[in-house]
Amino acid sequence: MAKKVLVIGEVKDGVLRNVSFEAIAAGKTVANGGEVVGVLLGENVSGLTDELIQYGADRVIVVDHADLSSYTTDAYQQALLQVFDVENPEGVILGHTSIGKDVSPRLAMKLNAGLISDAVSIELDGEDAVFTRPIYSGKAFEKKKVKEGVVFATIRPNNIEALEPDSARKVDITNLTVDIKDLRTTIKDVVRKATGGVDLSEANVVVAGGRGVKSKEGFGPLQELADLLGGAVGASRGACDADYCDYGLQIGQTGKVVTPDLYFAIGISGAIQHLAGMSNSKVIVAINKDPEAPIFEIADYGIVGDLFEIVPILTEELKNVLV
Ligand code: FAD
Repeated sequence: MAKKVLVIGEVKDGVLRNVSFEAIAAGKTVANGGEVVGVLLGENVSGLTDELIQYGADRVIVVDHADLSSYTTDAYQQALLQVFDVENPEGVILGHTSIGKDVSPRLAMKLNAGLISDAVSIELDGEDAVFTRPIYSGKAFEKKKVKEGVVFATIRPNNIEALEPDSARKVDITNLTVDIKDLRTTIKDVVRKATGGVDLSEANVVVAGGRGVKSKEGFGPLQELADLLGGAVGASRGACDADYCDYGLQIGQTGKVVTPDLYFAIGISGAIQHLAGMSNSKVIVAINKDPEAPIFEIADYGIVGDLFEIVPILTEELKNVLV
């Protein structure tokens, strides 16, 4: 049976995150020929509707409200529940991002829906959407489906391919007025840490450094390599604990989960907790002076040697090819 599926677009710094487009593709599978409705929440976000449409939304609902200018759990939950009241969706898809992880269990509970979180792929089994999700820190995968009620899921960024954008698509856009009240928290100001331009959790290339990088300055050549490849710098907890970089860059069980096309593990031993955040990367390149380092067990390409010699050579060689 065809389903109506709501896909919640996620806006960061005035731009739709890629995972929103991936969620539309996921929504198409769940909808099984039904309608995929993009939902945009925020303040002055109506300029972003075109992108949702190009990437496949069959209809878009815009909820513009001053209290939605920055994410707060209360405001988003109230707004989305009012959207659900109007739309009665049979499926809801969000990105498995900080926002998706925070708001989805609350919404699923209110809808009495089964929530499948952190899906990395979706396929149809008859009429049911079957979600694959990692378990045991990525060591195994399980397949799950919602047997009855609303199919509610979050998808891991960078795993489900977005559809090809089609700029010729034209669909209905509706503005929905919501009533937001009794907020327990309001955002007065957002102070951002100065970080590089590319979002680590959505980057196609991640250049990650570990304790072997030895200092803050040691991350300079890694940043140069990342910039050359249009990627983002990440880190192990070892490097963060040693204060070589900010905890916002930590990848792993207690940090970010990344699935780039290309992951460099530089001066990282490959502890199980680190692997939990990066082992599903498509191609892994490890640089380590210890040939016995566990990271080589999961690396597609391994370079044994001193990272302070290898990284600059690699960057120069890549410059010759790319620039
Ligand atoms: P090390 O293990 O010290 O490895 C440094 C590596 O650098 C070594 O392999 C060494 O051979 C190499 N090296 C040194 N010098 C050079 C050089 N000049 N050239 C090339 N290679 C060199 N860790 C995470 O990363 N993410 C997490 O989310 C995380 N969560 C955790 C949660 C819990 C509950 C616990 C208990 C631990 C967690 N950890 C996490 C920590 C994890 O167990 C490891 O301690 C950590 O990943 C080690 O970081 P590292 O590989 O940078 O450091």
